[in-house]
Amino acid sequence: MATPILVVEDEPEIRELLAFTLSRASYDVVEAESSEQALQLLDRGIPELAIIDWMLPNMSGVDLARRLRRDELTQSMPIIMLTARGEEADKLRSFESGVDDYVTKPFSPRELLARIKALLRRSGAPADNILESGGIRLDLNSHRVTIEGELVHVGPTEYRLLELLMRHPDRAFDRSQLLDRVWGRSVYVEERTVDVHVLRLRKVLQPFKLQHLIQTVRGVGYRFSPQ
Ligand code: CA
Repeated sequence: MATPILVVEDEPEIRELLAFTLSRASYDVVEAESSEQALQLLDRGIPELAIIDWMLPNMSGVDLARRLRRDELTQSMPIIMLTARGEEADKLRSFESGVDDYVTKPFSPRELLARIKALLRRSGAPADNILESGGIRLDLNSHRVTIEGELVHVGPTEYRLLELLMRHPDRAFDRSQLLDRVWGRSVYVEERTVDVHVLRLRKVLQPFKLQHLIQTVRGVGYRFSPQ
């Protein structure tokens, strides 16, 4: 699975054009036609970036952006606002709502892709889709995991858990944060499920004596520490 990007646009032609442009550039496109639908999709998983149209029915793109900025899960997700207007006041308002960049419609696909790339680089997403740390290498395109040069089998949940932890080295996540990010908010899973999957992950790392990379943070949860 490639880098997921959420597209929120109510006009079908523009949404299709965006989806086409992004999938041709090997992004994984998640489409929503309203802010409400976008919020539902976000409960199932957090994309790497969101492209939000300013003019949406009901909840506007600006209001959606504000809401995403207030939510801990989506706080740091880069947002590009699509706007049909070129007025300074509107650009200013969209920046105030917490968006990282804006693109005026009709947009140039090349310019949009360049802006996406720049934002993903800033947000710490690996440019070549390879995440490497502490002897572990994750290929985010193929979902293959290599440890010290050896290909290992990792279950889908363990993979997502490992990817999340490796993307945020030395950050402690509590169990509910891990559940929201790895399983999604829409799924009800007991907190101790996290422990089961951490245990499985450590078992994968054990033959390489790397199980200590996933540390238990007492009273909190877990963290990935490559040191
Ligand atoms: Ca629109």
